[in-house]
Amino acid sequence: MQSHPVWSRRRQRVARLRAEHPHAAALLAFYDDVLSLQVPLHARALKSRWLGAVEAADGRPPRLRLELLPERPRERDFSRFVRAVPASASDVLKSMADRLASEPAAMSDLLSAVLGRESIDAVAARLDCDAAALEFFPRAFVQPVADALAGQADGGFSGNHDASGNGAVAGDDDSRAACPYCGSAPVAAVLRDEPETKGRRMLLCSLCLAEWAFPRTRCPGCAEERAEKRPHHVSESWPHVRVEECGSCRTYIKAIDLRENGLAVPVVDELASVELDLWAVGQGLTKLRANLLGM
Ligand SMILES: [Zn+2]
Ligand SMILES: [Zn+2]
Repeated sequence: MQSHPVWSRRRQRVARLRAEHPHAAALLAFYDDVLSLQVPLHARALKSRWLGAVEAADGRPPRLRLELLPERPRERDFSRFVRAVPASASDVLKSMADRLASEPAAMSDLLSAVLGRESIDAVAARLDCDAAALEFFPRAFVQPVADALAGQADGGFSGNHDASGNGAVAGDDDSRAACPYCGSAPVAAVLRDEPETKGRRMLLCSLCLAEWAFPRTRCPGCAEERAEKRPHHVSESWPHVRVEECGSCRTYIKAIDLRENGLAVPVVDELASVELDLWAVGQGLTKLRANLLGM
């Protein structure tokens, strides 16, 4: 299948980082298999009329009310997605996929909870599964659909994807730390020079991969802005990925600096630089929002 250029770029970046960072090779091999399952879901969502069903009538954020996605196609597609769990997945994920496939009601509730931005703890308890790991399935499934619809909500899906392999770009510079499209928390920050603003900081959505502008120094967790509370850390192995710490709420988020490496694809580089997460957790910090692979 011909994939959308944004998705092709993500897969090309995965291939490159697999070669450059052997520590992350197994994780990236699995991520590439996930991307190969996400590509057709993205293509299908682009061709659908789902935007009309989910776009907020009042125009207020979040602009996409994903819980309104038509029930029958979403449940059928999610069931197929769960059953297609790749051989490169962990044994934990494979056994969870089996559990889900044998309990269609739980599978449906799990998807509904994520679409409605509700906790999945009750479903996880019913299935006797770890909620953080279980979340992989609905997140990985909804991501390409939400990415496609966020792009369309911006008035078309070809012109609003930036060159860095991210999804839609929201222009408004406001202070919300929740994605204006789907309401999810950010998984990373992105720094880039723009004609108007040098070193502009955007946040990257953990679900739909849209970007939105966010004040350069502010913590997306607690809005702390004092410079002495906001140190950042850079390692030699990942010179373009910095760990932005918040000394007030003790969270961190990784910022992908495209000025340092114009080839980086933020969603991919964030996943691949897992050694920085291990370091940050070792410092007693908690990630603001885990990525798709639960890191
Ligand atoms: Zn989003
Ligand atoms: Zn904070």
